[in-house]
Amino acid sequence: MPELPEVETTKRGLQPLIVSQVVERAKLYRDNLRWEMPKHLVTTLANQRVNSIHRRGKYLLIEFDVGTLIIHLGMSGSIKVVDNDTPLKKHDHFELGFTNDTVMRLNDPRRFGAVLFSTDGSHPLLDNLGVEPLEDLFDESYLYSKSRNKQQNIKAFIMNSKVVVGVGNIYACESLHQAGINPERKAGSVSKKRYQLLTQCIKTILAQAIEAGGTTLQDFSQVDGSPGYFAQVLSVYGREGELCNVCNGSLQHPLEGCKIARITQNQRSTFYCPICQT
Ligand SMILES: [Zn+2]
Repeated sequence: MPELPEVETTKRGLQPLIVSQVVERAKLYRDNLRWEMPKHLVTTLANQRVNSIHRRGKYLLIEFDVGTLIIHLGMSGSIKVVDNDTPLKKHDHFELGFTNDTVMRLNDPRRFGAVLFSTDGSHPLLDNLGVEPLEDLFDESYLYSKSRNKQQNIKAFIMNSKVVVGVGNIYACESLHQAGINPERKAGSVSKKRYQLLTQCIKTILAQAIEAGGTTLQDFSQVDGSPGYFAQVLSVYGREGELCNVCNGSLQHPLEGCKIARITQNQRSTFYCPICQT
């Protein structure tokens, strides 16, 4: 599933390819993805120039004079820019053809993605989003004050997009492991000092993932280009039963059986180390 780093990577890949390009045609190859796609895009976006592209949470925002095209990649979406004469692929559902003979196509086999439009840049899906994890507003003071009296577990708290956007399941597990915080701990019981470490870990892990994604972007504009997703080196996620790479080998934790455990929290798998995450 595309997470914040993949969406950021997609944004950075698209930026040089579509900004300043003029739309010759917008085409919808079906009526709906997760929601209905606005049919008026065919006329609204014709002859419009792309002013800029941004990311908010996991939404891509493509700005035109007439409004903002909002794209979400859902569970399986990817975007590529190819030559105009490239044949459509199965699951290509939406495209913007530009006057420079390139075309941007959204491919989404599972169709949980979205193509939406806003004339003023606001949208109910965007309006209640929390802070961006890579921005300065996201720090220990913010998480500490937001979490007071919260009985919710810390993992669900940092995955709540009204608090902070884009911390998906993998990144929540990895950040909590790196910060040494037990995922079952109540958000309201975590100290400010520990939130300081946690915010640093979240920023570092997301930044590393974005950095890793950048190296795969050469393929981005090629005819058969693959999306800029990438395999990351993971410390706990998907490693149930394997040795913890923090406390295994550490003299401070000479305990046997410091293996990664898996539990279910809020219907999602949580991977963590029962020894060094407290
Ligand atoms: Zn451990």
